Amino acid sequence: VNARIAQATLQAGRAPGSVTLLAVSKTFPPEAVRAAARCGQRAFGENYAQEGADKIAALADLDLEWHFIGPLQSNKTRLVAEHFDWVHSIDREKIAQRLSDQRPAGLPPLKVCLQVNVSGEASKSGVTIAALPDLARAVAALPNLALKGLMAIPEPSDDMTLMRARFASVREALDDLNAAGFSLDTLSLGMSADLEAAIAEGATLVRVGSAIFGARQRAH
Ligand SMILES: *Cc1c(COP(=O)(O)O)cnc(C)c1O
Repeated sequence: VNARIAQATLQAGRAPGSVTLLAVSKTFPPEAVRAAARCGQRAFGENYAQEGADKIAALADLDLEWHFIGPLQSNKTRLVAEHFDWVHSIDREKIAQRLSDQRPAGLPPLKVCLQVNVSGEASKSGVTIAALPDLARAVAALPNLALKGLMAIPEPSDDMTLMRARFASVREALDDLNAAGFSLDTLSLGMSADLEAAIAEGATLVRVGSAIFGARQRAH
């Protein structure tokens, strides 16, 4: 996966090392994370608050960075605020407010991305591009959060031209926010099947699960 990222980065004419690999370890046991960490992997992503908090506790002897990337309900914000370093899936002010309120005093601000809905499906979470500036302003004002950028999970398609267009719309939304005075540097785009398309459109972080750990038993 690191070789794929390096190749895609080169092909896109981007600086080597400008794309971070987030290893998505949801459903896999702590031992799988430990094995990846032994190979030098440091950033890991989890979708379920309790599963993630348990894994973080089991791996507390390692210096890892933990990203929460799943849908987040109000009753799980405390677990996430107390254990994680990043949250990629903010799409409502209420959730952001709770995370800021519940972030323990001794920890640095929680780094967050706003999740953008670029496929327009009612079922998928994410804020619309039209509603993005208001949400960004509200989140940026919260004291214990640091707004870093945008995340999206476009509806999967084998049509890479379509995937690139969707990724590009997220990059354009980030550029628009920065033109309006924000300083956002993170584009969390791309997974096992489409990381090359995401990197071609400016992803700075790709979230990769199955290409590292293998197929998941549970459906997610
Ligand atoms: C599961 C998941 C991934 C990883 O998906 P793969 O196809 O296994 O690489 C990335 N992002 C999110 C939000 C996920 O839920």
